[in-house]
Amino acid sequence: MLADYKEDIYHCLKCGACRTAFQAYTPICPSGFQYGFDSYYAIGRVDLARAVLEDRLAIDAEVMRRIYSCTSCGGCDEQCNPAVGISPLRIIEAFKHQAIEKGLIPPEVRDFLKGLQVHGNPYLEPSDERGRWAEGTPLESYSDQDYLFYVGCVGSYDERGQGLARTVGELLQSGGLSFGILGNREICDGNEANRVGERGLFEFLATHNIELFRELGIRKVVALSPHGFHAMKNDYAKWDAGFEVAHYTQILQAQVRKGSLRPRNRLEVKATFHDPCFLGRHNAEFEAPRFLLKSIPGLELIEMDRNRRNSFCCGGGGGNFFTDMIGSGVRSPSRVRVREAVDTGAEVLAVACPNCRNMLEDAVKAEGLEDRLQVRDVAHLLAQAVGVRDRGHP
Ligand code: SF4
Ligand code: SF4
Repeated sequence: MLADYKEDIYHCLKCGACRTAFQAYTPICPSGFQYGFDSYYAIGRVDLARAVLEDRLAIDAEVMRRIYSCTSCGGCDEQCNPAVGISPLRIIEAFKHQAIEKGLIPPEVRDFLKGLQVHGNPYLEPSDERGRWAEGTPLESYSDQDYLFYVGCVGSYDERGQGLARTVGELLQSGGLSFGILGNREICDGNEANRVGERGLFEFLATHNIELFRELGIRKVVALSPHGFHAMKNDYAKWDAGFEVAHYTQILQAQVRKGSLRPRNRLEVKATFHDPCFLGRHNAEFEAPRFLLKSIPGLELIEMDRNRRNSFCCGGGGGNFFTDMIGSGVRSPSRVRVREAVDTGAEVLAVACPNCRNMLEDAVKAEGLEDRLQVRDVAHLLAQAVGVRDRGHP
């Protein structure tokens, strides 16, 4: 609740540092850039939180639009925390939690949560079809292997996400990793429920996963999505989860390093890499995906100005991948980002997250850039270079 963050809220200097990535001299807040008003930046959101805390403002639809269009990208924290010492993102997420507690949630968020509560996934698909993505693959059910390969809701139900899950599975297997999958036994990791402030549902999903993993003796997890990776690595800790979690790019990096995966086929392409917020800024993993790209013969990696800690969110975080509270248009972050990628001269925009891939691929279409830029996950590029059957890329 906001009262828990009173000190931080009053500590905001109104300096506006949260608007800009100073190291790159460029906007860092996707919703603020899209709408141009302070109330869509952390500076204004913290001010709204103060007004609510002091009973000067009611949480209405206009306030909620400003709060829920925050993508939890962490760009504001990156600027504010070292300079001022507070986390505006924690305040914004507490704001969302307060709205949920008071039953004041936007219809888009309510529908997303209802789907999750009733069906166990935001796609409203039956839970007994969760494991269908793996049909026709040689991937095995988890029994007592070293790792669990956890694919999450996007990897289980989204067509493009399923393709990525199959390709990553094939790569991990080719590299000799001992792992299994949960199929229909898997449930949502809860990260997006947590990000929109539904902490009760998040706790239910997290503790269910922790108990299941304990029961099955799972000690190590490799996650497909940076979102699930983030939740399990950081937010599950409060229930003493007791398992290690890695993102798939980290495991693939180890496999390439030790030579169990060998990228031999040349890919003569110029590629740029978009850091996913929940892998990069939130978890400081910037190098594993870049290592994989650089290991591909012929691939030239060009950086966008906004990279690593100063990366610019695709707009899909904070539940926006499902709720789209941030909205579309030419200034939407995914469209801004693909224009930025094209400006580098790259032909491929590489990603390491199923959500980023969909957001950016759709933006390429909206911008009419299909003949100039392809969005490809690092895993699909690596599969091509290694010669592993790519079960995902069309
Ligand atoms: S949230 Fe932090 S960076 Fe933004 S205005 Fe307040 S003190 Fe400055
Ligand atoms: S987390 Fe991202 S979208 Fe939200 S206020 Fe901070 S910079 Fe803006």
